Amino acid sequence: MSYRNYIGGHWVESDDGATLVVRDPADDAVVGEVPRCGASETRRAIEAAAASLPGLQATDPASRAERVSVLSRLMDERRVELAALLTREQGKPLAESAGEIDYARSYLDTAVLEFRRMRRERSLDPEETGKDVFVEAAPVGVVGVITPWNFPLAMLTKKLGPAGCLGCPMVVKPAEDTPLTTLLLAELAEQAGFPPGAFNVVTGSPEAIGAELMSDPRVRLVSFTGSTETGRLLVRAADRTLTRLLLELGGHAPFILTESASMEAALDGLVGAKFRNGGQTCVCPNRILVPESLHDRFVDGLAARLDRLVVGRGDRPGVDLGPLVNDAAIAAVEAQVRDAVEKGARVVRGGGRLAFPGLADRFFAPTLLDGCTSEMDCFRIETFGPVCPVRTYRSLEEAIVIANELPAGLAAYVWTGDREEGVAVARRLECGIVGINDPAPVTAFTPFGGVKQSGWGHEGGAAVLGEYAPPKTYSVGRFADDP
Ligand code: NAP
Repeated sequence: MSYRNYIGGHWVESDDGATLVVRDPADDAVVGEVPRCGASETRRAIEAAAASLPGLQATDPASRAERVSVLSRLMDERRVELAALLTREQGKPLAESAGEIDYARSYLDTAVLEFRRMRRERSLDPEETGKDVFVEAAPVGVVGVITPWNFPLAMLTKKLGPAGCLGCPMVVKPAEDTPLTTLLLAELAEQAGFPPGAFNVVTGSPEAIGAELMSDPRVRLVSFTGSTETGRLLVRAADRTLTRLLLELGGHAPFILTESASMEAALDGLVGAKFRNGGQTCVCPNRILVPESLHDRFVDGLAARLDRLVVGRGDRPGVDLGPLVNDAAIAAVEAQVRDAVEKGARVVRGGGRLAFPGLADRFFAPTLLDGCTSEMDCFRIETFGPVCPVRTYRSLEEAIVIANELPAGLAAYVWTGDREEGVAVARRLECGIVGINDPAPVTAFTPFGGVKQSGWGHEGGAAVLGEYAPPKTYSVGRFADDP
């Protein structure tokens, strides 16, 4: 099926007619073709966005929020279709795709809720200040949005919710592997009544589209979710325009098991968190730290759980893990396992690709590596695949040092039988979110963002609008007719 881009309320091809083929990672079947756009189409999208800004700002705020709510309802109505398309372009199991639609909608709903709650004015006491001072959240203007392939819809609605409510027009660049659900969402946004220019989607060259978004002074915020490496490129590209950046970047979460933890619950929690989306999430527990005394029981229990995981194409019932998203992704996972083995790790389960007749060579076995160390890539570089590297620690102090030793600081997990111990350890972990006996700590209803090199700014919860509407202060002095 041939898809078009959505620019200024029109469905358009690329200027030169070039296209990109989107393939199902499970079997390489063609799922769709999208325009391969670059600088000129992006410029037109920015122009359309900028042209729509005055109209959006003049629109009654309640109607803007209502449009976002309607979009959420339309996503629900088309949930089955959206989920099927998501599985086809991304590979994740169908149940997870359906879960992502719900999760994505929750960002729209949270934005609407927070927008309705937003205090539009805070006055200081004129008696005290001698002036009338008030502060309003001022919509930032045109927003460039760049999203990753691992959660193409949820990472988009995180940004669409606040921008839609606040009347900030968007120019969206989805990942090349997963542009189709974003284009389907544009169709729904059109149906929901987003006016021409309010929501634009440009697919194609990341460098050309990114450079245009970063160099056009009409783009006032670029909201990016993706790797730390690309985040760095955007920071460098902002040196001329000083465009505001909201950066949700990579993680490499530690998982600390303490002596007091319930072993069975910890193992279930770890497997739930680790293998979601085949291990391709930014909050995946990737560095598993286990006390020496519990090591053997833990490794045996984890191995038994890995044996029960079903790998296959995402649209087959009962599948827990689909294919990895592309060849580079599986090669990177393979390289990490090889590196760990060369440096002394033991492969307890998995360790390589799984072959299925008629399917692509992108399925990786759930893998358990034991005896890992900080020198191994799997303990230094974000893992984006179904690999559990385990290492032991001698004291909780040591575990905390290991957990904090990387420049990434997105998520972390602590599993313990002692609430106070859990909170005490969590307080010392350098990250933006900690699950204490909780394998799924991320929701749309709480702020989410990394520390250190995992990003700038927050999304979700009460923080959902902030980056899109920085405070503006009005300080009003005396007038001639004041008493
Ligand atoms: P990525 O390679 O950085 O890509 C993310 C987006 O940036 C894609 O749309 C990509 O386009 C685009 N891009 C690549 N090069 C660019 C450039 N020079 N200028 C502008 N845009 C450019 O990341 P990914 O591999 O898709 O996603 C996985 C990463 O995202 C992981 O590190 C993960 O931890 C992180 N992530 C973070 C969060 C969070 O909330 N902190 C959430 C989800 C994922 P193409 O795909 O077309 O190359």
